[in-house]
Amino acid sequence: MTGLAAIANICVYCGSSPGHDPAFMRAAERFGGILAENGVGLVYGGGNLGLMGAIARATLEAGGRVTGIIPGFLARREHMLEAVQELLVVDDMHSRKRLMFEKADAFVAFPGGVGTLEELVEQLTWVQLGRHDKPVLIADLQGFWGPLLVLLDHMRESGFIRRPYEARYLVCDEVEDILPALRAAYAAEAHPRRDLPHEF
Ligand code: AMP
Repeated sequence: MTGLAAIANICVYCGSSPGHDPAFMRAAERFGGILAENGVGLVYGGGNLGLMGAIARATLEAGGRVTGIIPGFLARREHMLEAVQELLVVDDMHSRKRLMFEKADAFVAFPGGVGTLEELVEQLTWVQLGRHDKPVLIADLQGFWGPLLVLLDHMRESGFIRRPYEARYLVCDEVEDILPALRAAYAAEAHPRRDLPHEF
């Protein structure tokens, strides 16, 4: 199988709020359509609120596949979306994050709050520690993630992010560029290591 065909599922981390700029909801809806059109499944946090709900509904409406993974205690609070092909209600946040990791071939962070930030940063640390090499992409829509990108540059310039422990990530500012960038990165990985070892 070529790398181009290899991405079957993408995990999207994004806000459970819509944000103030309507461009964020539009971008989430557009990306859901792109996933469906390309036969790539969406793995996400299982809610029906904000950008999370928008991307899931758009994927489904365009005929795509959605896996929602949500801890039971959030099912009501985040308005669990039941009309998905695969719904996994888990015991806790750690199980959710681990399953989201296992079921996805690549990760994208759309705009969001601290939940999104935490999930993104955790993936960056796993890459940095060499626990996997699935691509991680920051969707810098409308420059949303600019302050984080500045902070990461500052960490690098200050010697706190350094070889061989590089926090590798891709950055796109247009929603249409996300899937091609992920596919290229996935295909370029010569010796893929795509599973977290059990002891992680
Ligand atoms: P937010 O970006 O804060 O709107 O949160 C987006 C999603 O991340 C929601 O489904 C939250 O339940 C989830 N979330 C919040 N905190 C965490 C965390 N520490 N680890 C993983 N997911 C989280």
